[in-house]
Amino acid sequence: MSRFEDLGIKARLVLLAAAAMLPFLLLVIGGLVYSYEDATATAEKDVRKTAEIASDRVSHAFDDARARLEILRELPELRRGSGISCHAFLMSMRAANPQFLTIGVLDARGEITCHSREGKLETFTDPVFGRRVLAMEPTDFAVGQFRIGANSGRPTVFVAMPLPRVRNEPSGIIYASLNLGHLQDIAREMSGKSQRSILLLESQTSRVLARWPKPVAFGTAMPDHPAASFVRDNAAGGVRQLTDVDGTVRIYGIAPVRSAGESGLVLLVGESRALVMSALNWRSFAAVLLALLALSTAIGAASWLGSEMQVRPIRRLALTAARISAGQFYALTGIETWQAPEFRELASQLDTMAVALDKGRQAEQAIAVSEARYRLVADNTTDIITCVDTDGRYTFVSGASLPLLGYKPTELGGLLMRDVVHPDDRPIVDDIMTAVRAGQTLQAARYRARHCDGYDVWVEVAGRAVEGRGEAVLAIRDATHRKAMEDHIEATNQRLASLASTDDLTQLPNRRTFNQTISTELALCARTQAPLALVLIDVDRFKAYNDGYGHQAGDDCLKRVAHALRTEARRPGDIVTRYGGEEFAAILPNTTLSGALERADAMRRAVREMSIVHGGSEHGRVTVSIGVACLFDAGREEASAVLIRQADQALYEAKARGRDAIEAFPNDVPLPALKRSV
Ligand code: GH3
Ligand code: MG
Ligand code: MG
Repeated sequence: MSRFEDLGIKARLVLLAAAAMLPFLLLVIGGLVYSYEDATATAEKDVRKTAEIASDRVSHAFDDARARLEILRELPELRRGSGISCHAFLMSMRAANPQFLTIGVLDARGEITCHSREGKLETFTDPVFGRRVLAMEPTDFAVGQFRIGANSGRPTVFVAMPLPRVRNEPSGIIYASLNLGHLQDIAREMSGKSQRSILLLESQTSRVLARWPKPVAFGTAMPDHPAASFVRDNAAGGVRQLTDVDGTVRIYGIAPVRSAGESGLVLLVGESRALVMSALNWRSFAAVLLALLALSTAIGAASWLGSEMQVRPIRRLALTAARISAGQFYALTGIETWQAPEFRELASQLDTMAVALDKGRQAEQAIAVSEARYRLVADNTTDIITCVDTDGRYTFVSGASLPLLGYKPTELGGLLMRDVVHPDDRPIVDDIMTAVRAGQTLQAARYRARHCDGYDVWVEVAGRAVEGRGEAVLAIRDATHRKAMEDHIEATNQRLASLASTDDLTQLPNRRTFNQTISTELALCARTQAPLALVLIDVDRFKAYNDGYGHQAGDDCLKRVAHALRTEARRPGDIVTRYGGEEFAAILPNTTLSGALERADAMRRAVREMSIVHGGSEHGRVTVSIGVACLFDAGREEASAVLIRQADQALYEAKARGRDAIEAFPNDVPLPALKRSV
């Protein structure tokens, strides 16, 4: 059993059509009911009327008999009441009134005095009736018992009237035996072609006097006839439907037969109900057939309309919608031009939508291709391509984030740049964001990004802000290798610089450094008007040392001497260099000659006090001779050459004085009282 909500459009339309037809069907049924009632009423009226007409016809026989008896009893021929003349008269009267089988006269004693028949006088066959009539009023008319006549053998009944009274005493009666043979004819005639059931019945005895179409013997008692009890209760008239003995339902109308005396004679007319209704049945059948035809036509039309004009276009629309859903945007609805404009409109809208979606998809595909290309580039470049907003928050991160920083793009998205850097480098990232916000293009800002495993990765950032978008596109590149290379190069350079400026044996600044330093210091002293002292130191008899102890021992000796000399150059600006071979030079900025001599002597003593045995020396140990010069006008031309020359000259003099001695280039400055030699 399907529920209402499961019913489709077609079924609903069919229901609607059926509902719309319902009043029509009710009208038809109501009309039929009314027709049946009307037909029944008409039939009832008809049978009753027919019964009245038939009863009138029966009554008429009795009325006629009465009228004739009234005339006869007054005739003078009957006054005599007996004799030939009376007999002859009654015979002639009998001949003139064939409805009478016999006519006769009874005297006051109830004996026949005269009658119309041939032969001798007989005893009156119904003496009770004779006495009853004799006692009646002179104007009364009496009907006797219905019976088959003893002489005639025909259906008959006595009718009688008292004869006029003589001296107010009953004188006798006149009677006639009424021929009732025509009653059956009346019944047959009234039955008519439609074979109505006609029944002339004596209500008190239920004896049938006439019946058609199934005639019975006159006077047959039918107490069990279905009409009998109805007649007993409604002798004055009425209508009723009864089921006859043959099973036929009949509408019976009843009418009393007046003038038929006290026997309660009634006339029944029965019309077969089936016969009455048969015409109507055909009409009803036709009406119901038409109504059903109309109903089925309406339902059929609704069904057809539903499937052709509702379901079909809707199915097509649904199919198109489904195909569009499935991505078949080229699908067209193709709805018939005779379909309802609403459907056509909907179909047109769907088709338009499909075209629009198709265009959209083409655009999407183009975008997708472009997107895929960009993604291919973004994901396959070793640089991390990112978008950051003005706060420095990653809004897009390419796939390179995983190999470089250990973060998946989705993990890095949403984080701030400055949160994924070495804490010390946050200011650099802040500067990057400031530059980006200012619209500058970044070339290669470098900072340490923090790998998700906690270590740092040197990266370089390049990019710029995208105008009007409030975000910047940045490429973050792994700079580890480059940084390492740079660090290496710098270390190498430093090493090279160091090698270029340092003496390999003694690790003291070399002659080149000496030359640069003396120029620099001279320039500085010239600006500050400060004195600059130069101390030249030469190891005594060193050739002999080499010769005596070997070159390696010579080198070791030189290292120790160098260390001793450097130890004595105490001021921060002081510098001791290897001037060449076994010669050293100390530059003492902002130092007077006396100060320099003091330092020179300390150096001499420091070497001596090391007590390095030197058999080839007159002092028996390694000693140095020192020449000192000091320049106050450092700004003068070729100051360095002058100063070196002066110091060298002083050294020469120290050698000349026997070595292990110091000598100053003589100038205006008085020398401190120093011990010049040991
Ligand atoms: P003087 O007292 O007059 O200075 O005599 P000297 O032998 O020191 O002077 P000289 O100039 O004749 O000899 C210097 C020697 O120093 C010659 C050289 O073999 C030696 N010498 C120079 N440089 C080095 C060096 O780097 N290592 C060693 N072992 N010897 C060196
Ligand atoms: Mg020398
Ligand atoms: Mg020497």
